[in-house]
Amino acid sequence: MAEVLVYVDHVDGAVRKPTLELLTLARRIGEPVAVALGSGAEATAATLAEHGAVKVLTADAPEFTDYLVVPKVDALQAAYDAVSPAAVLVPSSAEGKEIAARLAVRIESGIITDAIDLEAGDEGPVATQSVFAAAFTTKSRISKGTPVITVKPNSAPVEAAPAAGAVEALTVSFSAQATGTKVTARTPRESTGRPELTEAAIVVSGGRGVNGAENFAIIEALADSLGAAVGASRAAVDAGWYPHSNQVGQTGKSVSPQLYIASGISGAIQHRAGMQTSKTIVAINKDAEAPIFDLVDYGVVGDLFEVVPQLTDEVKSRKG
Ligand SMILES: Cc1cc2nc3c(=O)[nH]c(=O)nc-3n(C[C@H](O)[C@H](O)[C@H](O)COP(=O)(O)OP(=O)(O)OC[C@H]3O[C@@H](n4cnc5c(N)ncnc54)[C@H](O)[C@@H]3O)c2cc1C
Repeated sequence: MAEVLVYVDHVDGAVRKPTLELLTLARRIGEPVAVALGSGAEATAATLAEHGAVKVLTADAPEFTDYLVVPKVDALQAAYDAVSPAAVLVPSSAEGKEIAARLAVRIESGIITDAIDLEAGDEGPVATQSVFAAAFTTKSRISKGTPVITVKPNSAPVEAAPAAGAVEALTVSFSAQATGTKVTARTPRESTGRPELTEAAIVVSGGRGVNGAENFAIIEALADSLGAAVGASRAAVDAGWYPHSNQVGQTGKSVSPQLYIASGISGAIQHRAGMQTSKTIVAINKDAEAPIFDLVDYGVVGDLFEVVPQLTDEVKSRKG
């Protein structure tokens, strides 16, 4: 069976969920061979094996942390040369997309970014994408070279599928460009204790209807009752009520959770562009004519200041 390279996103050996989802998709088209780089790379092996990696290629070097993406591209290319895979799958983070794009240029292959599903096809893997502000769903296949595909978080279930996960050291020789852009400082983001917005299974977002930074506490309370991340519309972010890093939409983050709850958000096309692929969409809006109601699975016409706290209480009571 053909091997499929899976680029591993991990933090000091702790594998992030989107990579486990990639392993589920990789198993549909071949045997997953994981590529884990940097500090803790070998520590990823047990988790990756549990989820289907037949091999785990690892490399660690200061270049991976001291410079921007090129050393990682060099390493992924080394893995590509060693394995000659049927496809290369990379998580659709900003860094993942840059790594994938650079690899595709180097190996003269086509690339598909932000896939939301992947299946085997007679002439290579077929990727599903949601395009034009989620107005269309397309299926496409790469016709040149080895398919390089980035996949959005929450596009596939995490499945246990034990495999050998044999660790092999990857030999990487860094290119002249590898040390071209040095990282000069790192500032850890303040932890909210909530899941990462783009990876969260549930997102609760607030918009202009929330009417003030202090009122976001009710959005956060609902999010916390559900173990969700908090999102915001651009109107709320531009008003300074919530950080830009939480903006959902065309010029913010793209999310695709199992459940998206929009409170006091009208549903402008630019907001929809970032959340329309969510599996179940719920909106709370006092205007029954708000365009958001055109795309919801469940809608509540009502004042969010009444509805959201009641919902939070109900969730908490059912959790016992
Ligand atoms: C180039 C460009 C890029 C953009 N990118 C983004 C983007 O990335 N993300 C984004 O979100 N927007 C983006 N926008 C802005 C977008 O067009 C909208 O202006 C924005 O999404 C509106 O935010 P909103 O829904 O919170 O506000 P509004 O459109 O003002 O809607 C507020 C809603 O809250 C409801 N409401 C008010 N009070 C209550 C209450 N008490 N209870 C219940 N409901 C209530 C109202 O009925 C209304 O429907 C972009 C615009 C441009 C031009």
